[in-house]
Amino acid sequence: MSLSSSRAAACVMPDAAGLCPHCAYRRSTDLLVEEAVDLAVAVRADLNDPVQVSELRQRCETGTRALLAAVCRRRSGASR
Ligand SMILES: [Zn+2]
Repeated sequence: MSLSSSRAAACVMPDAAGLCPHCAYRRSTDLLVEEAVDLAVAVRADLNDPVQVSELRQRCETGTRALLAAVCRRRSGASR
């Protein structure tokens, strides 16, 4: 995993040691995406084909993140 270092720098509450709401949300989103991708890849890819696995992984992650972003936009838009 190479997720942590670059993202930690963006913390809005550096003193919270990564426990601020923003980071917590971000981390749970990452976990969610990762699990969804793992599941999709396990079901759909030929696990003996590393190229196919990594392509599908990439596509699933992009798609899942786009979906989450759309949901977030819709939710925040609803209050306006
Ligand atoms: Zn933070």
